[in-house]
Amino acid sequence: MTGQSDLKLERNDLLMNANFIAGKWQPAVSGNRHNVMNPANGMIFAEVPDSDAQDAAAAVNAASDAFFSWRKTTNRERSKLLKTWHALILANTEDLARLMSMEQGKPLAEARAEVAYGASYVEWFAEEAVRAYGDILPPLMPGRRQMVVKEPVGVVAAITPWNFPLAMIARKIAPALAAGCTVIAKPAEDTPLTALALVRLAEEAGFPSGTLNIICASRQNAEPTVAIWLHDPRVRKITFTGSTPVGKYLARESADTLKKLSLELGGNAPFIVFEDADLDAAVDGLMRGKFRNSGQTCVSPNRVYVHEAIHDDFAGRLAARVRALTVGPASNPTAEIGPMINERAIDKINRHVKDALSKGAVVLTGGNTVRDHIADGPFYYSPTILTNSSEEMALFCEETFGPVVPLFTFSNEDEVIQKANQTPFGLAAYFYTQNAARICRVSSQLEAGVIGINEGVVASEAAPFGGIKESGYGREGSKYGLDDYMQLKYLCEGELA
Ligand code: NAD
Repeated sequence: MTGQSDLKLERNDLLMNANFIAGKWQPAVSGNRHNVMNPANGMIFAEVPDSDAQDAAAAVNAASDAFFSWRKTTNRERSKLLKTWHALILANTEDLARLMSMEQGKPLAEARAEVAYGASYVEWFAEEAVRAYGDILPPLMPGRRQMVVKEPVGVVAAITPWNFPLAMIARKIAPALAAGCTVIAKPAEDTPLTALALVRLAEEAGFPSGTLNIICASRQNAEPTVAIWLHDPRVRKITFTGSTPVGKYLARESADTLKKLSLELGGNAPFIVFEDADLDAAVDGLMRGKFRNSGQTCVSPNRVYVHEAIHDDFAGRLAARVRALTVGPASNPTAEIGPMINERAIDKINRHVKDALSKGAVVLTGGNTVRDHIADGPFYYSPTILTNSSEEMALFCEETFGPVVPLFTFSNEDEVIQKANQTPFGLAAYFYTQNAARICRVSSQLEAGVIGINEGVVASEAAPFGGIKESGYGREGSKYGLDDYMQLKYLCEGELA
């Protein structure tokens, strides 16, 4: 291995390189392994198991066996374990943040913030676990009692992406365990280490053997490995965050066993700046929303619509802020924009920008990969603003997932709402205006599950996060989030008169 000397942990036992099944850390049955790369320099610094169908089957067996006793624990017992896990996550923030920055590339300050954000879901569902109330229905005839109880769905398979290696998996595992489900998880191939460390801390918190299992697989082996879970009738729920094509595949492939599904999929968020907006607030909201995680965020503004009357003023203010951003590796404490995750990501950004330029877009700032001032990083892209963007461009239709802001102009409210909704996706949308009536009109017409109104960063553990249209279904976080992991059972008792 190379490059590992950069990774200094206070607890070396948090750098796990094994699967965790039935309470035991173990290699893949095949003995195969795959590499973990630091995207800041392209160097391999760790290896994890490259699992296949055998490991996937072992994980289901473990979770299925454990479910019978785990579901009988009281909600308060589960809540206490989640609280212990939450405390351990926070106590190990620095190590988790370092692991995350090393495998994912985000600046350390962002990685620390993600630890707090991911942990907030664990705390939230520890609190929600004890509030999984049912109902007693008013009887419609004498001598009857009718009740509705909530029960855990069973074994939950969680499949997660690389862009938020801690938060995405925490906000699936926590509600599942809180509900009384057991979990089998597969983190993204690019970022398994943060997830393994999180599970290590869950083990330390005392979750019983088999309640939480995790296996790693390379991109190539993801499909055959997860396929075992899709077809096994004991797996009762799939919870997935990732791209829309993979989400659709999971829904199709699991249809034979009619599993419950939560699909948090891709977005193509519009960000609208009306002529009556506070421009500094809008620039600030866009900077915070767009450049978080170097633009590799599902709710990241992807199409920025600026009213023609304020376009030049807005573009000038935005360009000043974007030019001031510092690009660099997480080891640089002033870095605000890290590397993209891998070659595929940088290729997509290059493709989008080249396509836009060939169709008339103009570079206001950036527009190229950054190699000159970063010694050894192949995956950096300079923060970019494109003006004169139009609907024929790939970046109008697809998520760019990088630090590129295309500016579109519009002249009236109806036109921009129609354009904003002209996408099969519906995850997030944002708009800036100081007109109260417009806030009401626009928020009711935008087709998205999450709307930022004069706000560029909207996610929180207390809010239901999720999309509509081809951005998927299901909600994570909030008082609604536990229901995705529970099923209703109606009990009707007679002969009571
Ligand atoms: P991806 O869909 O390629 O991969 C996500 C996960 O699915 C990974 O663990 C991967 O190994 C696995 N996977 C891939 N192909 C598979 C297959 N055939 N069978 C089983 N598993 C498979 O997505 P990505 O590129 O890693 O992540 C970026 C995408 O995730 C973006 O589209 C982004 O918008 C989306 N995302 C959505 C949310 C949300 O909450 N809606 C949050 C973060 C990211």
